[in-house]
Amino acid sequence: MPHLVALFGYPLGHSVSPAIHHAAASAVGIELEYRLWPVRPEQLAEGVAALRAADWFGANVTLPHKPAIPALVDGISALARRIGAVNTLYKQDGALIGENTDAPALVRSLREQLDFQAAEERVLILGAGGAARAALVALVDAGVRRIDLWNRTPDRVTALLGSVDAGAAEITAAVLDPTGYPEMDRATLLINATSVGLDGLSAPIPQLDLPRGARVYDLVYGCDGTPLVRRARAAGFAASDGLRMLAYQAAGSFALWTGRPAPKAVMLAAAERALAERAHAAAAPRAEPRR
Ligand code: NAP
Repeated sequence: MPHLVALFGYPLGHSVSPAIHHAAASAVGIELEYRLWPVRPEQLAEGVAALRAADWFGANVTLPHKPAIPALVDGISALARRIGAVNTLYKQDGALIGENTDAPALVRSLREQLDFQAAEERVLILGAGGAARAALVALVDAGVRRIDLWNRTPDRVTALLGSVDAGAAEITAAVLDPTGYPEMDRATLLINATSVGLDGLSAPIPQLDLPRGARVYDLVYGCDGTPLVRRARAAGFAASDGLRMLAYQAAGSFALWTGRPAPKAVMLAAAERALAERAHAAAAPRAEPRR
């Protein structure tokens, strides 16, 4: 009987997480079945309660459930509490615990891919949703001293700014205004934490007025980068999409569930393969219906 893991979300579209976790499990010799489990908000408590059965390792949690989880579990980590969102549920001595593995995954990816030097960075984050919140806490904890937050909806960015302990960091909030970006030229690192780019066509900002040497990280990921990443590279900036972050947050969850070190390289390769297959399937011409 395999150990079970669920992904709770609603709606749940296509996900590469099953491929990532199944590859990891077979690499370390564990039987694991990762199930997509679409639950409406009113069904979430029932879904979380089901995880208490012995055959479940735990779950991943995605939109719109990340903020609702703390009330349904036995404990949450200090990091998840500060971010205000849980993306992983796991068991510890019989208790169901909530953790956030997005934040460390982002910092690890930035260090590996974009030579992130926390104390020297001035970071511009686009967005004020759950991902921006995880990014903000991750950057503050890593030691970034100067962060600018831009979001389309003013209230949301003000609320985010008011609810995160900035420590020694100086953080400003502004509206993402498509008509002009006067302060972009001071950023050393631009992070897109909006959902713009998921369609493979749009970029969150029409122009990149970044200084020379600045880098761009897009939490959105795609088979050959994202529109923002392609645009940044064409303009001469080092840039990365969020695929490695995705693999690393999965690795964090896998280690909590299994108690084993996660095979990160295997998981990253599985994520790349799954995305390429998805892109290939989307591009394939549809067969004519048989008459
Ligand atoms: P969310 O809570 O729904 O927030 C979405 C954000 O995108 C909000 O700030 C929203 O602004 C902004 N936005 C949406 N459409 C926009 C538009 N047309 N123009 C400007 N801003 C727009 O979502 P989330 O959980 O933060 O996730 C954001 C993205 O991060 C998703 O694409 C997700 O896949 C990605 N993500 C990636 C990883 C990874 O491992 N790579 C991990 C977590 C999340 P308003 O407030 O104005 O609506």
